[in-house]
Amino acid sequence: MSYREEVINRVITENPRQPEFHQAVREVLESLGPVIDAHEDMYRRDAILERLTTPDRQIQFRVTWVDDTGHVRVNNGYRVQFNNAIGPYKGGLRLHPTVNRSVMRFLAFEQVFKNSLTGLPIGGAKGGSDFDPKGKSDREIMLFCQSFMSELYKYIGADVDVPAGDIGTGAREIGYMFGTYKRLTNLYTGVLTGKGLTFGGSLVRTEATGYGVLYILEELMKAHGNSVEGKTIAVSGSGNVATYTIEKAYQLGAKPVTCSDSTGWIYDPEGIDLALLKEIKEVRRGRLSAYKAEKPSAEYHEGTYSNGGVWSVKVDIALPCATQNELNLDAAKMLVSNGCIAVVEGANMPTTFEATKYLQGSNVLFIPGKAANAGGVATSALEMSQNSERLSWTFEEVDTRLQTIMKNIYAHISDAAKEYGCPDDFVAGANIAGFLKVSTAMKAQGLY
Ligand code: NDP
Repeated sequence: MSYREEVINRVITENPRQPEFHQAVREVLESLGPVIDAHEDMYRRDAILERLTTPDRQIQFRVTWVDDTGHVRVNNGYRVQFNNAIGPYKGGLRLHPTVNRSVMRFLAFEQVFKNSLTGLPIGGAKGGSDFDPKGKSDREIMLFCQSFMSELYKYIGADVDVPAGDIGTGAREIGYMFGTYKRLTNLYTGVLTGKGLTFGGSLVRTEATGYGVLYILEELMKAHGNSVEGKTIAVSGSGNVATYTIEKAYQLGAKPVTCSDSTGWIYDPEGIDLALLKEIKEVRRGRLSAYKAEKPSAEYHEGTYSNGGVWSVKVDIALPCATQNELNLDAAKMLVSNGCIAVVEGANMPTTFEATKYLQGSNVLFIPGKAANAGGVATSALEMSQNSERLSWTFEEVDTRLQTIMKNIYAHISDAAKEYGCPDDFVAGANIAGFLKVSTAMKAQGLY
């Protein structure tokens, strides 16, 4: 049995009932063959893969808060600090009922490679809670965030671990958490990113992940003698990543025709009405069914995957921007049969393992989330830099840096794929490029 297989089996045995974590580890380790297998003895002796797949630490804690009816509610809070070989831990906080140890671990593990790819000095972590912000009042959200931070603050810090937003955690939640951190520690530091612009936030952070997806897509297209301009695009999700993916797609001359949420999906042949989408999601915090009510020419399908979901629409490019494992093998087959040429992941691990293999085997250009959505965390790192020097950069300055970072990520993953004998395999390229930097730093720092 190869060293990589041994470690995959070990992870599965030691972490039972953690399918998302197993999936993420398998995907990374399987693609590291060209690097590991030639020097297996050395990597085995240094236990590099065991160290890389075992988090530095993980914290689980009780979050107690009072709802509007006066009842005490209890949720689980998590922070997985996976690896800080190249910088302080960094990664978002997810508030969603599906949050559990497996989801937290897979996200934190992926974050290590993603952060490495940005070229910036940030390690990997992830956190969150199984708290469901949907339907909660502003007061309930604030009480939850305050309680959550009243435990988390012990484990984070501007040079230790810098959390950010993710699903369910936007500027409002970050604001409440920052206020609590400041109150408890009396420190005004860049301990969280995604902050409001009046208290240390960075311009472009809101747009960064979605814009970054399009910047790397444009690099991919250019490298293959093509362009984003004129393409029809399927987008899933209607949250932060999806919204700004759609915005930048329009700016680059493409036509995004779909979006979705956890209750249904929209097909608008005229192109998604971005202003209406923002009004429904960012202002009213409503459901997508409202879109159809105001734009009768669009189709609304109740149920995220009903009638084939967004991936059944004939498009040139697919950008999954909602959640993990939302693009399965059946969806991949529909995309291929409709002539889709590229899939670029805005969300974390939205494509199942089998679907990824099928797309790659069908010559669909595929960029994994750890490379394609790294613009968010990269801009968070730029927010940290601005906080450290107590300055704010202009929108253009941050956006230019973001574009450069995404171009560099494409160059790194493409070069690594070529160098290790698998050109255009951007999954392997991303994993190899991310791994080489982190493992080199780990070895240089000795055992700890
Ligand atoms: P948001 O909470 O803003 O939006 C998530 C979107 O996905 C919502 O439209 C939500 O619908 C939808 N969704 C959630 N679960 C499901 C489901 N099971 N089926 C269909 N749709 C679903 O999150 P973000 O946009 O911030 O994050 C989206 C993805 O991108 C996540 O994987 C996240 O980890 C990743 N990511 C985010 C970054 C960021 O900067 N925000 C950075 C890098 C990665 P509903 O409103 O109904 O819940």
